[in-house]
Amino acid sequence: MSHLVLEGLGKSYGSVTAVEGLDLTVERGEFVSLLGPSGCGKTTTLQMIAGFASVDRGRILLDGGDLAAVAPNKRGLGIVFQSYALFPHMTVAENIAFGLEMRGVARDEREKRTLQAMELVGLKGFAERYPRRMSGGQQQRVALARALVIKPALLLLDEPLSNLDAKLREEMQGELRQIQRTIGTTTILVTHDQHEAMALSDRIVLMNQGRVEQIGAPDAVYGRPLSAFVANFLGKTNVLKGCCEGSDRVVIDGFAVTIPGAEAGEVALAVRPERLAIAPPGASGFPARITGRVFQGAHWLLNAESAAGPLILMRSNDGGDVPVEGDTVMASFAPGDAALLRDGAAS
Ligand code: ATP
Repeated sequence: MSHLVLEGLGKSYGSVTAVEGLDLTVERGEFVSLLGPSGCGKTTTLQMIAGFASVDRGRILLDGGDLAAVAPNKRGLGIVFQSYALFPHMTVAENIAFGLEMRGVARDEREKRTLQAMELVGLKGFAERYPRRMSGGQQQRVALARALVIKPALLLLDEPLSNLDAKLREEMQGELRQIQRTIGTTTILVTHDQHEAMALSDRIVLMNQGRVEQIGAPDAVYGRPLSAFVANFLGKTNVLKGCCEGSDRVVIDGFAVTIPGAEAGEVALAVRPERLAIAPPGASGFPARITGRVFQGAHWLLNAESAAGPLILMRSNDGGDVPVEGDTVMASFAPGDAALLRDGAAS
């Protein structure tokens, strides 16, 4: 049986539809991120799972049981917010043990589990410290330990790292993933940061205007976006306009490729900059005129214009020649590196 199931989930605030028709199945131990731009409904979804927002349409099942009638504090969930929401007058140990105390866990057991949780998040020796005397990263570890100490059925994380500076954030991402792997708690993360979602998740749920755009493993969603929205949200991309002449044959300014599923008429393909190659002399491709180049250390980013639309190409800084502004090159790609966009002709 699936661990968590969201079925046709929907929620409106007055005339604003925050979430609509959301279907998602999460397996035990999975790390799933709800990703999307501000206002797409990520937090509302998490709050419905937590029980802080009512469900207007659809239902939420945890281990087969409907959560509708279960009060938020009886759902057995661990929750970490962007603001750490620690109790300032309590020490680290008291903050972490609080949930256990509320659940009537005996003192010995409480102390043992609190120590284990502090160790898990790398806060051994901080038991008597007060939150105000800790860094943002340390406070967030306390919040994480406090959520995990109750051995939650689900760990819900709402932008937990967004108050941290870039370096610490990256470090904490690695640790968070490591901790989650160690304890195996099913985790739902809300984030608007595509790098964070890709680095942490088993699967990403990419949302847009209250609806799911695409669900899949990070590399699958990055490599095979279904829509221009997904392609653009998950990093830089080329949206190439072409024409399908039938039988899966797509032609881009004279360059023909076979794209299964393409239907006759105008089509659009997404190709990542690192997969758009400069064809060697004599090989087939479509003309692209270099309009600029930016050195980024390990690679160059080249801007170009073509009949298929503006292009970005990535050239590795491997000692080879790099085209300069004004050069015309032949751009090409392998059919397997192109994703057919369902909103193609319109984009
Ligand atoms: P962010 O990344 O900015 O937090 P989000 O993807 O989490 O955004 P939600 O907070 O779920 O998005 O909001 C979805 C939509 O619902 C938005 O249009 C928002 O304005 C609206 N909304 C959310 N909460 C409320 C509320 N309590 N009252 C009215 N409208 C709300």
